[in-house]
Amino acid sequence: MKYPKLREIKGALKSFFSKPYTTRFPKEPHIPFSSFRGRPYYYEDKCIGCTACVNVCPTKALSFTDITDGNTAKRVLTINWDVCIACGQCELNCVSVEGIMLSNEFDIATTEHRSVLRQTIEKEMILCEHCNSAFACRDHLNWTIEKLGPLYPPNTTLLTFNQNALALSAETPHNERLIGRPDRFSVLCPRCRREAVFQS
Ligand code: SF4
Ligand code: SF4
Repeated sequence: MKYPKLREIKGALKSFFSKPYTTRFPKEPHIPFSSFRGRPYYYEDKCIGCTACVNVCPTKALSFTDITDGNTAKRVLTINWDVCIACGQCELNCVSVEGIMLSNEFDIATTEHRSVLRQTIEKEMILCEHCNSAFACRDHLNWTIEKLGPLYPPNTTLLTFNQNALALSAETPHNERLIGRPDRFSVLCPRCRREAVFQS
């Protein structure tokens, strides 16, 4: 017969008289430590709709859809908490820094349909004045203008977009005619911008 070593007996006696390492959750609420990575949340007022977080998410818990309806468009960004592994890559790579942040919420188990484990936010999109395709979020363009400061006017899409926003110029109505030199001072998607530059 093998006898337990003294070290094991000492360990057993010590744990018998010390506090348990585990908490009494779910009987008592558990407060995670401050750097705990829990479920992430989008913050609509801080997010600029750039989709960088969607690109870095390893589990495809983040996704987006662009919806165009006539002369309006929006981008819908979604988090599916049921496939999120709380790795923190979205928060780490968020372009606006506070657009998506992890909380310390860990208890997300539910008996409801998985669709309750979802958050969606909507961002207004800007349409190309030539081809009418949605190409960027309004907040993203504003953020870029703010970041570039006095350096933004050489980008004529940003210049015209800002002038329209400040009511210094009128929006060009959408048209299907051949793109040319005058269109260089319109709000254009990258494809139409290239064509306008090429044609002039
Ligand atoms: S924490 Fe990780 S898995 Fe969860 S949404 Fe962010 S990037 Fe995706
Ligand atoms: S601003 Fe941040 S949260 Fe919003 S889409 Fe870009 S990376 Fe994602």
